Amino acid sequence: MADFFKLKLPFSSHHQPATPRSFKPKKNVITDDYEISKEVLGLGVNGKVLSCRSKKNGGRFALKVLRDVAKARREVDLHWRASSHLNIVNIMDVYENKYMGSKCLLVVMECMEGGELFERIQKRADQAFTEREAAKIMRQVCDAVAHLHSMNIAHRDLKPENLLYLDKSNESVLKLTDFGFAKEVTTTLQTPCYTPYYVAPEVLGPEKYDTSCDMWSLGVIMYILLCGFPPFYSNCGAPMSPGMKKRIRTGQYDFPKPEWSAVSDSAKDLIKSLLKTDPSQRMNIIQMKKHPWIADSVAVPTTALFSARVLQEENEMWHDVQEEMALALATMRVDTDQVRTIKTVDEAKNPILARRAKKQQQKASEV
Ligand code: ADP
Repeated sequence: MADFFKLKLPFSSHHQPATPRSFKPKKNVITDDYEISKEVLGLGVNGKVLSCRSKKNGGRFALKVLRDVAKARREVDLHWRASSHLNIVNIMDVYENKYMGSKCLLVVMECMEGGELFERIQKRADQAFTEREAAKIMRQVCDAVAHLHSMNIAHRDLKPENLLYLDKSNESVLKLTDFGFAKEVTTTLQTPCYTPYYVAPEVLGPEKYDTSCDMWSLGVIMYILLCGFPPFYSNCGAPMSPGMKKRIRTGQYDFPKPEWSAVSDSAKDLIKSLLKTDPSQRMNIIQMKKHPWIADSVAVPTTALFSARVLQEENEMWHDVQEEMALALATMRVDTDQVRTIKTVDEAKNPILARRAKKQQQKASEV
């Protein structure tokens, strides 16, 4: 009986259990339990996401098929461990099957029929989309990220197409998916008690840099929600031009009129804290959850925004926006991964230090 409850816990609670269990794929063939349809729900970099139906209860689900390699195992494992949260796409089952001769992982998830976040807002062009609604959306994304960061998981690919809606009878819930670049941050996320002034922040805590990439994404998504266009964009049309890289690195963006004229200062203040160029200065998720614009969304004004109209009018630019954000995130991931390769003084076998240590040893033996 006790074991039964232990097994059920991650799915019956929205709170993080102390030690979420790692995934154990089922070995029987998926078609024992699900009928797989040819209907494509979406296309990803790793293949199609198909629709499937449970043979047990007739429910409709989404099926993602991954080649069973170490990277896919990591993706599924992290997603599985985080998936009990309300704002993260829930994994129902994982199968390890052979498909056309190669080992695959088949991930059955809840079906997010409500579609992508910005598609939904775009369809609202005739109805005012308000700042308070934007705050409500951001709160849901914030809750998903807070859950991940509390588990020491950085998502690292937080972008519009990974935010999907689940429509329930009386409400819609926004959920985060695609853990393809998620990473377990091994060291603690707490700030050290003391910080020697001479040590570069990257050396002290590279783990912060993985999660700070999610915070930057939150800033970009919030910006687009409030006006319909991104804070950074290519001037020459080519995604991730050198100019755009520079603008991101130096934090060159503004809040142009007329789209931003009526947006609250509180919202702008939050965006500025999230888009700080120095990752160590960037707001973390705990601070974001406490920011009045997120914590007290009833206090957020119901000002009508330009976003829905801009998204509709600039529809053809959306593909470029997605591509640019994906590239910016890829660049950040490379940067943070490189940070990890910086050696500490000890590891680097610094010749000056080695010589000094030898001298000190000599001195000590002379005494
Ligand atoms: P990849 O990691 O290969 O990029 P994603 O997990 O992002 O794949 O999925 C690709 C697309 O499939 C998404 O952008 C979305 O449109 C669709 N999709 C993914 N998961 C679901 C789901 N659970 N329900 C409905 N559609 C989904």
